[in-house]
Amino acid sequence: MDLYEYQAKELFSKHGVPVGPQRVVTNPADAVAAARILGLPVVIKAQVKTGGRGKAGGVRLARTTGEVTAHAEAILGLDINGHTVRKLLVTPASEIVREFYFSFLLDRADRTFLALASAEGGVEIEDNADTLARVPVDAVGGVDLAKARDIAVAAGIPETAAPVIVRLWNAFVAEEATLVEVNPLVSDSNGDIVALDGKVTLDDNAAFRHSAHEGFVAAAAEDPLEAKAKAKGLNYVKLDGHVGVIGNGAGLVMSTLDVVARAGARPANFLDIGGGASADVMANGLGIILSDPDVRSVLVNVFGGITACDAVANGIVQAIGFLGGAGKPIVVRLDGNNAGEGRRILAEAALPGVVQIETMDAAARHAAELAGV
Ligand code: GDP
Ligand code: MN
Repeated sequence: MDLYEYQAKELFSKHGVPVGPQRVVTNPADAVAAARILGLPVVIKAQVKTGGRGKAGGVRLARTTGEVTAHAEAILGLDINGHTVRKLLVTPASEIVREFYFSFLLDRADRTFLALASAEGGVEIEDNADTLARVPVDAVGGVDLAKARDIAVAAGIPETAAPVIVRLWNAFVAEEATLVEVNPLVSDSNGDIVALDGKVTLDDNAAFRHSAHEGFVAAAAEDPLEAKAKAKGLNYVKLDGHVGVIGNGAGLVMSTLDVVARAGARPANFLDIGGGASADVMANGLGIILSDPDVRSVLVNVFGGITACDAVANGIVQAIGFLGGAGKPIVVRLDGNNAGEGRRILAEAALPGVVQIETMDAAARHAAELAGV
């Protein structure tokens, strides 16, 4: 699970990594109140789990309360790489003298941990890949002060950063992260080393050992549709297009997203109803997708294996009955186990707005057309 910047900084702070004070707000009035408490000037930052916020206008300096209001209004609701901004972080503006890049990560290819660091931080690190020092970190040896100094020297970062590097490693190990990234790690006008940004990926397989991380999970399911799907035990991810997608099996659903994209449309979601899905599960899934205002058409793509197509067809009939009509066009492609019976059930129900198409490509093209692209 990826954390928001403010959550990453909460973890950093717990492990003694300097981050500076911060407040999280959801409206301009609270941003102003936070700025008054923290002291102007402040930086207002979009809290979204994607990079490049700075470039997208999601990170702004405010010198007056008027600017706090204006920036908070401008950033809230902003779309950054398909993520809508609902929360802002307010933090006192630092006087940056130098910006560095620093990360610890699990290097699966080399079966070890790795420190990546650069004296050219701040900007997108991909643009400065040649300045990156790559220092392998042994899992048992870890990072002590001497090792931290070696990493700093290799990257051209001041050695005064070494104690912070040790604490970042401690956070990485104690929280069972697979990535801890700070860009920028800065040296400020007091000569202090401070983490001005933070990205942390926690290892979900270790979640059972970290009850303290439960709050992060709750905050992650903020999209109301994702929260609703989660409560119903559905494997749903909201995306930014207009064709709702339901399928059985993660592989088939991923392929369906590709086929929708190839048909020139963009999928509105990922939803895997799984093998052995019942009519109820189909009804729940369809209910969630149809309630998404971004959805203009729905593509149901099922290859019956353990889930027989007649159960899927009954689920569709049941869901639409329950919802009192689909309200949006639904394209259904059924194949595999009991496909004949499934198609017959749907044909007989003759639900308005529901059409059956036999192949996946043709079904995706039709769904894309219905979505208006
Ligand atoms: P990102 O674009 O999503 O990576 O967001 P960052 O948190 O890294 O912020 C982008 C840039 O904004 C940083 O590289 C800094 O140059 C600048 N910035 C962020 N916080 C501060 C701050 O407190 N003071 C100043 N002067 N600049 C900041
Ligand atoms: Mn950054």
